[in-house]
Amino acid sequence: MSLVARIRAGAVLGVLVVFAPPAAVSLGPVGGQIASVSRGADTAELLKDGLPPEGSQSEEPDLDVSDGVETSGVLRSKITDVLDQQASALLQGNLAGFLASTDPADTALRSQLTRRFASLRAMRVAVFEEALTGTLRVEQGGHVAASVRLRYCFVATRCAPVETTVQTYWSATAGQPRLTTFKTSTPEQTGPRPWEVSELQAVVGKRVVVAGTKRWASRLKSILAAAERAAAVADRYAKWDSPPSRYIVYVAGSDEWSQWHGVRQASWVAAYAMPLNATHTEIVLNAQKVAVSDARDVLQHEFAHVVTLSGVQRTYPNSWWLVEGIAEYIQNVGASTYRYRAFGDGRRYARSGRWNGTIPLSEPDSTATTSEANGRYAVAFLAVRRLVERYGEWRMLAFFNAVAREGQGLEAASSAIFKVSWSKVSEDCTRYVRHALGG
Ligand SMILES: [Zn+2]
Repeated sequence: MSLVARIRAGAVLGVLVVFAPPAAVSLGPVGGQIASVSRGADTAELLKDGLPPEGSQSEEPDLDVSDGVETSGVLRSKITDVLDQQASALLQGNLAGFLASTDPADTALRSQLTRRFASLRAMRVAVFEEALTGTLRVEQGGHVAASVRLRYCFVATRCAPVETTVQTYWSATAGQPRLTTFKTSTPEQTGPRPWEVSELQAVVGKRVVVAGTKRWASRLKSILAAAERAAAVADRYAKWDSPPSRYIVYVAGSDEWSQWHGVRQASWVAAYAMPLNATHTEIVLNAQKVAVSDARDVLQHEFAHVVTLSGVQRTYPNSWWLVEGIAEYIQNVGASTYRYRAFGDGRRYARSGRWNGTIPLSEPDSTATTSEANGRYAVAFLAVRRLVERYGEWRMLAFFNAVAREGQGLEAASSAIFKVSWSKVSEDCTRYVRHALGG
């Protein structure tokens, strides 16, 4: 199941956050298996990626290598062993072992796998499993196609592993399976994952892992320092689940920004949160847009999404204002309302007449200007701030839980938690926002 909502925040910082929480918009079976038996889809992929032409047609959906020696069970067992050995080699830092199943002459595959090995090791991969899933398919020329489910965690071994399923191809004519192709996760699997396609360096702190390509290496430590401060605040709002063992932040240049996770973001978006399972959400930071001095603010907002939406398995199309409002609230907790970054855009939005006084705003549409998007964030932020001022933070959190996380109606949640009808609460918030922003 996958994510849902697209959350955008344009901003002074361009904090437009396209957020795809595990509950909302269906990006496809995150963590699930791809339909490895779908020959049509596999063929299309083969063609697209220019794999060996002789391998582009499936002859049998689930057959063995009928060279008179192997049976599907034997081959399956051999490939399983190879995958186990490869995963173990990665965890042990043994590159030669990781490459052992490849042809030494296949420099393209070996350099691709070497890059992947280096990235995962830099990020301190702590759990890595590779398991066959679905049936093996023998194709012309003896190529064997196999779906492989990957499960992995960074830094901590006690974790809820992130999953993805990738396609692999093997040559099995020599009696021993030899890996010939190891593809990356498709967009349906929120792929490619950054470590699958980019050579990453990483710095690891107490609460955060920050990874990026060589181009951003000189910034990684500063971003980590900012991220650690942001994490310390976000951790306090992990009310419904344990905070993540580490927040994961990928620093993207322009190439990676349009490649990672298969999502196309506007170039001015500052960061987005990408849920990879019900409890694990990773952050991609747009290094082109976010100066190191702004990294803490942007990441505090993103980490707030990580902790407040952890475990949510449903969509929340009607709670955009609450989901973003609480992230803005956590980003700005302890600071004066009038120092709020989007305050100016909020005033412009309110005074333009485009805001009709509604508190439960929906997300800005795709044609919204950055300023208008920020204006909506400002309304959402101020409304949540008002709930805290009037009813206390813990009641605001209870209300957020009821509405955004559990999907209760505003009226029922308001009566139960604030002991006041939603219309009264909403009117009060509207007055507060108008007082702050004018309009
Ligand atoms: Zn957000």
